[in-house]
Amino acid sequence: MTELSWKPHPGPQAGSGRPRLGQVLITRDQIAGRVTALAGEIVACYDHRDRESFELVIVAIMTGSLIFLADLVRALPLPVRMAIMMVSNYPGATTKAQGVRINYDLQEDVAGKDVLVVDDILDSGQTLSVVVDLLRRREARSVRTCVLLDKILPTPKRICPDFVGFPIPDRFVVGYGLDYDNRFRNYPQIAVLEV
Ligand code: 5GP
Ligand code: MG
Repeated sequence: MTELSWKPHPGPQAGSGRPRLGQVLITRDQIAGRVTALAGEIVACYDHRDRESFELVIVAIMTGSLIFLADLVRALPLPVRMAIMMVSNYPGATTKAQGVRINYDLQEDVAGKDVLVVDDILDSGQTLSVVVDLLRRREARSVRTCVLLDKILPTPKRICPDFVGFPIPDRFVVGYGLDYDNRFRNYPQIAVLEV
């Protein structure tokens, strides 16, 4: 398949100083291979084949996990229900955390259910720990977490995810669902944002 070339975002500051795609850290093929392998790890962990009633509730943290979620669930040969939460920590045109806000809450009852929280990237762990605490308070039977990316930081994190796609250096990245000011989500690989 021939790849079309990527067009930069236009913008009021077009021409100088606008954020743009930098070094590619993870290619499309690397993502595809790892997502399949991750699905295998997840299935092995929920080896509930003997339990007729087993269903996995996937709670996706929107919007960053959207593309990862779509690929991951299609690689998971398990009965799943899908639910979303909208949580923001880096709203708008910023590359600095602003504090976790739940903008849209789950519409699914998780009491007594096995829940897998899916997010795009783990940085400090604030976002996932807020969501996991909430799901535990709502009496989910089990709560596990899966992130595509885990930033390597010198400081301890608030949470240790159960499933990780790739560890990455501490850079602000975009693509494959991850955004800067709601842009670059459809870029198919993970790239550093140059500001
Ligand atoms: P944490 O709460 O773990 O510090 O940050 C996780 C959330 O912040 C992610 O769900 C994601 O929305 C956002 N985030 C953290 N690092 C990055 C990054 O490098 N790029 C983008 N686009 N979002 C990030
Ligand atoms: Mg997020």
